[in-house]
Amino acid sequence: MEKRLIKKDALVGIAKKMAEELTVWAPVKKEDNVLFTPLTKDAEPFFAYLNSKNAPKQVFFPHTETLMKYTRTPKGMVFSAEENKAGKTVLFGVRPCDAHSFVLLDMLFDQEKYKDQYYITKRNNTTVITLACAEPPYATCFCTSVDGEPVSADGADIVLTDIGSEYLAEFITPKGEKLAKYFGETKADAVAETKKKEIAEKAKKAIKSKIPAHEVKPILDNNFEHPFWATIHGKCLACGTCTYMCPTCHCFDISDEAKASDGVRIRSWDSCMFPLFTKETSGHNPRISQKERWRQRVMHKFKYYVDNFNAIACVGCGRCVMSCPVNIDIRKIIEDISKL
Ligand code: SF4
Ligand code: SF4
Repeated sequence: MEKRLIKKDALVGIAKKMAEELTVWAPVKKEDNVLFTPLTKDAEPFFAYLNSKNAPKQVFFPHTETLMKYTRTPKGMVFSAEENKAGKTVLFGVRPCDAHSFVLLDMLFDQEKYKDQYYITKRNNTTVITLACAEPPYATCFCTSVDGEPVSADGADIVLTDIGSEYLAEFITPKGEKLAKYFGETKADAVAETKKKEIAEKAKKAIKSKIPAHEVKPILDNNFEHPFWATIHGKCLACGTCTYMCPTCHCFDISDEAKASDGVRIRSWDSCMFPLFTKETSGHNPRISQKERWRQRVMHKFKYYVDNFNAIACVGCGRCVMSCPVNIDIRKIIEDISKL
């Protein structure tokens, strides 16, 4: 594996240089938030960030995207598939938990039987450069409980680790190696690799928030009707923030927007926290209250995904914990379930 050293202050310049030739998404400071945004001449990448407010999943799974267009003609409807325009893209400076989320999303959108070409095209055209967490960004981070690590190559094509005055750049995949020309010529030595190993161990130990994520599956298997489900949703406002912030949530709605003879079919993010998400045309709603919706959120992440893909659909980023306006904490819910 190719490994190089780059000076700390060279990183912004590398991202900007790439952005001259490719579409580069990077963390950018916007008022009080850091958001993953396409780098333009006016946008300065900001790598001294903890974690981004938004999850970078939107690069592969946008908030809204056109799937096809149609026109009503005297001879009938004419349909045209929307051209999948994803060009060569770089996702620069993603935290390892978010890169882990891409691996989980691949399981759903790129299955042997079901293939979502809109997602797959963007994913295949994108190189993921992660910025390892030498220090845990937040007290709410619990990646080590859900098969992640603060210094991990899962889902990454290139891993950057801050080893002091330099970054160690590891080119994990052939896709990553294609971008090696941007990272200078200084080869990494054994000292750099030893430093990285020490940092990775220390960072792992520094994650103090832990949840019994792997213990709850057999409990969830047998407790769909447990009275516990009536105890967690009381404060929930059904605002959907937890799902919109979540790097692994992927519920969507498909709708047609027509004007005169022309129309577009669009896919937009949706949320299992919204009452309308499961409301049927008849008026019947199988998830009639926030109790059923919260049960679904937990079941989907900690039981159904494990059933379907043998993986927990949570990467421990803590965004839902930090962003919930009424302080509902998924860590506490999993802890309580483990004691049922
Ligand atoms: S459920 Fe919460 S902690 Fe887990 S990945 Fe989603 S936002 Fe992050
Ligand atoms: S963020 Fe909190 S209040 Fe909003 S839907 Fe999620 S759990 Fe409910």
